[in-house]
Amino acid sequence: MYRIYIVIGLVILSSCGANKKKDSEITFSEAEIANENAGAEEYDFDDGSYEETVETERAVYQAAETIYTDLIHTKLEVSFDWSKSWMFGKATISAKPHFYASDSLFLDAKGMEIKKISIGAQVLTFRYADDKLRIKLDKIYTRNDKYNIVIEYIAKPDERKTSGSEAITSDKGLYFINPKGEDPNKMPQIWTQGETKSSSVWFPTIDAPNVKTTEEIYITVENKFATLSNGKLISSTKNTDGTRTDYWKQDLPHAPYLFMMGIGEFKVVNDFYTRPNGTRMEVNYYVEPAWEQSAKAIFGETPKMIAFFSKLTGVEYPWDKYSQIVVREYVSGAMENTGAVVFGDYTYKNTRELLDADDNSTIAHELFHHWFGDLVTAESWSNLTLNESFANYSQYLWDEFRYGIDEADYNAEKEADGYFQSAENGATHDLVWFEYENQEQMFDAHSYNKGGRILHMLRNHLGDEAFFAGLKNYLNTNKFKAAEFTQLRLAFEEVSGQDLNWFFNQWYLDQGHPVINLSQSLDEEAHIVEIEVSQENQSGSLFRLPIEIAIHDDAGVTLHQIVLDDNGQSFSFPVTGAIKTIIFDNQHMLLAKVTDYKPMEQFVNQFYLGKRYADRRDALLFGIAEEEPMTAEAEKMVLDALKDPFWAIRNIAIDRANSLSEESKMQAIEIIKNSSLTDQKSAVRAAAITFLQDKIAAEELEKLALSIIVKDQSYAVLSAALVALSSSNPELAMVEAKKLETENSSKMLSGIAQLYATQGTETEMAFFEKVINENKLNGLDALFAMNSMTIYLTRQSTELQAKALGLYKKELANGGVYITMFLPQNVDYMIKMISDQADITKAEITAYETNKNPLYADQSRKKLKQQQEMIAALSVFYAEINVEKQE
Ligand SMILES: [Zn+2]
Repeated sequence: MYRIYIVIGLVILSSCGANKKKDSEITFSEAEIANENAGAEEYDFDDGSYEETVETERAVYQAAETIYTDLIHTKLEVSFDWSKSWMFGKATISAKPHFYASDSLFLDAKGMEIKKISIGAQVLTFRYADDKLRIKLDKIYTRNDKYNIVIEYIAKPDERKTSGSEAITSDKGLYFINPKGEDPNKMPQIWTQGETKSSSVWFPTIDAPNVKTTEEIYITVENKFATLSNGKLISSTKNTDGTRTDYWKQDLPHAPYLFMMGIGEFKVVNDFYTRPNGTRMEVNYYVEPAWEQSAKAIFGETPKMIAFFSKLTGVEYPWDKYSQIVVREYVSGAMENTGAVVFGDYTYKNTRELLDADDNSTIAHELFHHWFGDLVTAESWSNLTLNESFANYSQYLWDEFRYGIDEADYNAEKEADGYFQSAENGATHDLVWFEYENQEQMFDAHSYNKGGRILHMLRNHLGDEAFFAGLKNYLNTNKFKAAEFTQLRLAFEEVSGQDLNWFFNQWYLDQGHPVINLSQSLDEEAHIVEIEVSQENQSGSLFRLPIEIAIHDDAGVTLHQIVLDDNGQSFSFPVTGAIKTIIFDNQHMLLAKVTDYKPMEQFVNQFYLGKRYADRRDALLFGIAEEEPMTAEAEKMVLDALKDPFWAIRNIAIDRANSLSEESKMQAIEIIKNSSLTDQKSAVRAAAITFLQDKIAAEELEKLALSIIVKDQSYAVLSAALVALSSSNPELAMVEAKKLETENSSKMLSGIAQLYATQGTETEMAFFEKVINENKLNGLDALFAMNSMTIYLTRQSTELQAKALGLYKKELANGGVYITMFLPQNVDYMIKMISDQADITKAEITAYETNKNPLYADQSRKKLKQQQEMIAALSVFYAEINVEKQE
């Protein structure tokens, strides 16, 4: 599954003064391990009395599911009542006792109506309670006896209640979107989301990741609908009643949480992957008709990725086909259902939008799961990192292959930051975590980000050849089975011949990360540099860290391999002539917080001598003194960095240009002016025009911004140019924004909304109403536009503000995981702002009364009443949407 990052959204509103204390990160704050036995009584041998002791045992141990029964095959026959959001199902399950003979079968089945259960002609008795189906078989079966059981049922996902009677929205398993077609702007559709334990909402199964079964499904729908499921489409049969039955079959076993079904008037765009033996495998993209032309631009790298990952792992893509589908109101980022991957509608981007950001990282992530997750599956949610760390790391592997090491390193840093951020919030736990309370907690920055970075360290430690051979060994040894992290260790040990317990113990079975401080002192007479290294870790245990140090001096560069394994260590190295720079962790692979106390000129030298992105980034960040004038060398570095081959370095340099001396800044401005028009990367062009807005004359800025608006294809750059233009000529910016309102781009509309947030008058209300009512925005754009609308409305009249509630409700109906997540924050902000305004109105009333101006006082009273009504209505709505998820 692809986790949604929401930190970005928070920044938007907090930068506008609405700093909320509510932590909306999906982190699943620190696990509070409830220890209900704490204080249990224990016998004291000394004096024969009972006394209170504190329980020190682990209170929770999340074991893998005990396997009583092996599922062998699952055959499903399904049809639908769209008006009721029901699915009629018949499941034929082939199974046998796993080891011990048994006369029972226990299945998970959530919120279903069970009609009948039978074996052959014999109807079986069963008990159905608490989402568990306990079936009494017709006799005792041994592990050598296979049986076929038939269950007729109705799945009713929308009618399922939790114990708290709160309708479950995020683990519904089976989703009917706009099933009655009431919303003309949203294509009716059905889709499923199995992970973690929700497949049992739409078919009875053993809903655990250490279960595998082959599968076939007959889906009967109106003829106008396309269907998608796992495996291959074997046949499509028209029925006499005008419906059609599609028959999908997956011959290779996979876990029930990977079962998938998607239905709607999708267009299927065909592509293919050529296997090494020359056969063509079907690759296709299911999109809404409006996106048919864009599908290849969005997903077109997929065949190349399949080839790349097949080669890299040494295991040919193991499944029958590869389909990707984009659905509405999706509840996560994307999901790796075997051969039938689901994406949220943020994936819909036209060619111009793709210039700013594509979704290839997510595409790679889901694809790599087809080896790590689908072929070899984490045996329990505690071991989730066996799925997610690899999917996460695949993004590095793809970036490295496709765009080069700088892009890979840049994104890896962001992944590491995501982990550090959650660690700072105190949410650390073992990577393989047996003490979670709810399995959803496992989908966090540990399983993903930290896990991915740990694989990167292991790759550096073992070397590429051993690392990838280890992966191949792990896949081949455990394919079509479930695995735990021990199996991963054994696979690497077998290949490399190394004992790797030390590595796995500290990174997989322990928590935290090293915090390292470095300092150096040079003995000029002895020509020796001494490097002092101290290591701390919040969890207390020390890490063993083999790393490489590069010493650049007058003789060139010398590489030294050292091992850090103590609190304080010092290492001495010979130096020839002067030290130019010393680079600790030369490959920048450590997942650690490192503070390097070295002279600034060494940072500047490292800009030119270092090989990696982090060398140049750190040089720009630390080679410049905070409040002192820059050295000539540092100024040259910033000017050179403006022309760096890697875009992210150019972006940092634009930011650093603010600190240049006046003379150098003039040079920088000329370079940046050029960048705003010609840089290859839209993010740099956008940063350039933003930088220039308070650096050049208003007339020149207007001219530049207008020429960008006319010529540039990137919506990110257009949005930045609009904002820059508004800084000198707001009226003109509004005129240009109006012209761009017709662009069919979620990105552009979101950019316009950003301008209107601060510049818009009552006229612009129509824009917000249109884009929201017509559901023109998706993904993060929808979130940004919602934030912009909130800010916009707080600046408008009470009459316009009265429309807020209706628009928020419409946003909620439009759906999207970001909206669901941040709507409460927006509503809360709106309530606070209107409350502040109501206070002002109250003061107005008092003033008018004092001045004996009853007419105005009356008007203000009316306004106050309106404001209070709005606050009341918004507060009710807030309470509805801010319900904590209960599970
Ligand atoms: Zn994933």
